[in-house]
Amino acid sequence: MMAARPVRWGIVGATTIAREWMLGAIREAGGEIVSVMSSDAGRGKAYAAENGIPDSTTDLSALLGKDLDAVYIATTNEKHKAQTLAAAKAGVHVLCEKPLAMSLADAHEMVAACRAAGVVMGTNHHLRNASTIRAIRDAVADGRIGKPLFARVFHAVYLPVGLQGWRIKDPAAGSGVVMDITVHDTDTLRFALGEDPVSVTAFTQEGGLSGAGIEDGVMGVMRFGSGVLAQFHDAFTTKYASTGFEVHGTDGSVIGVNCMTQRPVGDVLLRDASGERRLEVVPENLYVRSVTAFQNAVRGEGQPAATGEDGVRSMAGAIAALESARTGRAVAVEPGL
Ligand code: NDP
Repeated sequence: MMAARPVRWGIVGATTIAREWMLGAIREAGGEIVSVMSSDAGRGKAYAAENGIPDSTTDLSALLGKDLDAVYIATTNEKHKAQTLAAAKAGVHVLCEKPLAMSLADAHEMVAACRAAGVVMGTNHHLRNASTIRAIRDAVADGRIGKPLFARVFHAVYLPVGLQGWRIKDPAAGSGVVMDITVHDTDTLRFALGEDPVSVTAFTQEGGLSGAGIEDGVMGVMRFGSGVLAQFHDAFTTKYASTGFEVHGTDGSVIGVNCMTQRPVGDVLLRDASGERRLEVVPENLYVRSVTAFQNAVRGEGQPAATGEDGVRSMAGAIAALESARTGRAVAVEPGL
């Protein structure tokens, strides 16, 4: 039997996330990285050389013309839409970073364009690929905590100094902790609980790291269709907080410790009438799992770990949180799908 041709990838954006995680993940998953696009020729050339990429370009059409199967789009958020539409038009599959876009209307357009072009669209929500989060999802789905009542998401971190750029300074590029981290919380909650949030109430904070008018911390509560309440805490400003993801039910609690992270680390505990025990979690690179599912989908097998629609739904939760913080009211989550 002939081996399948490697999926040929173009990297859109000379970015930190690609350098730290996704280039390695694509290679480990058997993909071939053909070229990288940067808006700056010098930066793109240096990035390609440093990362073993054979080619760089400043022109998206030139990139899309390189007999690609897929692009990984990880530019700043305001660029995702036009780049996704161009890839779809060229018949190239799209794995796009979160948040998909700057508005829900734009995200809908991206999903619709990929569907109309018959290309796969994935959203790179890494956390649903974590062994810890999958163990929590399984424990909930298997009824091991009884009826879920509450969830708590601890996702307040300190934004690394090297990333203290557009995320805290540039509203036009999609700054703010809610569009950066609350989107991940929303996706992880949807995945672990198997249902969608219907309403959000939140308060945001300007804790001194971000520019004026840009939130760098948030606390809030999402209400899900079944009545589950989920508390979330996200920040760029806390140097010493730990992360976690917990679901508490009528008959037990499942508690993820140190699990809201890019690294394949963390523990999951199950606590019920018979005591507390650690659930088996086999560490696995989250991004390799994401790329593998996406490449399988490109070959016609299954779906990406998170689809374009999942990306729309996670944005809808984050947008409702921002609207709640702005108005001081509970806001309905309306993905419009
Ligand atoms: P970066 O800040 O590293 O890169 C964003 C853009 O900034 C690049 O496209 C690049 O432009 C430009 N840039 C990079 N370095 C320089 C420089 N030295 N001088 C001037 N411009 C520069 O972004 P991230 O990697 O942190 O994030 C990219 C996207 O990925 C975002 O949408 C983010 O939300 C998402 N993300 C997702 C994560 C996940 O786990 N799912 C984790 C981290 C980020 P150009 O390409 O034109 O050269």
